[in-house]
Amino acid sequence: MVKGSEGTSDKFVSMVSATAEVDLRLSDFHPRSTLNSKVHRVERARFPVIDYHNHLDSMNPHDVLSIMDQCGVEHVVNITMQVGQRALDMMDRYHAAAPTRFSTIGWMDWSGVERNDFTQVTLDRLHRMIDHGACGIKFWKDLGLTLRDSDGILLRIDDERFSPIFDACGKLGLPVMFHTSDPTAFFEPIDAENERYEELAAHPDWGFHQLPVTKRDLLEQRNRVIARHPSTTFVGAHCAESGEDLEYLAEQLDALPNLQIDISARTPELGRQPYSARAFFLKYADRILFGTDLLPEPEMYRLYFRFLETADEYFEYPSHASRQGRWNIYGLFLPEEVLLKVYRENALRLLPRLQ
Ligand SMILES: [Zn+2]
Repeated sequence: MVKGSEGTSDKFVSMVSATAEVDLRLSDFHPRSTLNSKVHRVERARFPVIDYHNHLDSMNPHDVLSIMDQCGVEHVVNITMQVGQRALDMMDRYHAAAPTRFSTIGWMDWSGVERNDFTQVTLDRLHRMIDHGACGIKFWKDLGLTLRDSDGILLRIDDERFSPIFDACGKLGLPVMFHTSDPTAFFEPIDAENERYEELAAHPDWGFHQLPVTKRDLLEQRNRVIARHPSTTFVGAHCAESGEDLEYLAEQLDALPNLQIDISARTPELGRQPYSARAFFLKYADRILFGTDLLPEPEMYRLYFRFLETADEYFEYPSHASRQGRWNIYGLFLPEEVLLKVYRENALRLLPRLQ
């Protein structure tokens, strides 16, 4: 290890540098920050929290409740990844366990997409989900990236054939969540310049740089749908996949008044640009939903709260096994009126059952 620093005599540097490792492998590099900065642990959120974006299918509702109670989470919206009867069973399971603590967003079922009556089939499915208490429907990134019609042609998000589905969601008061495309780094070559190289090297199938469609294309397809259905409420998951470009995200929110966003899995993006992110939260406080997209754990929630509530500097963002990129985040010390909206009030508008 090199122990030299500025001001050290040349003689001393040459004496110790001979023992420094020069060809350290990236996977063996785990630097520890020497920064001595304040740590404010936030055991419980300042206000009751609604986690609008989580996936609880693999969990036991009673285990989740105990974690929620430990850190001040009032309500979790489970986005089930099941379809058909299994989705309905999952809804029943959570709603029966604690009707005021859990809601469910259904998962768009693409089976039968080649049928002429697919729209009608989908509407029937939506009604069945609503009968079981669904509070929304999620369209995942497979639409636009991988889903194909019976001729093998990539389905477009703005395919007019799906319009009646989005219209119906508006009439039924069912918010539509879009997870469209992915982080920008996933659309770039997996090479030495990719800021998420380690993550993509471990999961090369997450990379889309070889596809003919660009990320901007996909977002514009999605935005066309949102613009076409002004009476339908849309939620752009993960900062509408624009967390790397808050100016563009603001442009989209300005152009699309029926669009809300959730911040799930995007503290790494928001927290590495704290000045812009804080200004963004203050300006768009009515449009931002708290969500995590990480399996419930007290420490995970507490890191989210620390990010939103404190002015702590340079700490690890919430994540589970795989880290997104080699950087740390800074807290946004949001004012109480913004926290109230982001933690709870904005989500309540989408969950009329709880009002
Ligand atoms: Zn998710």
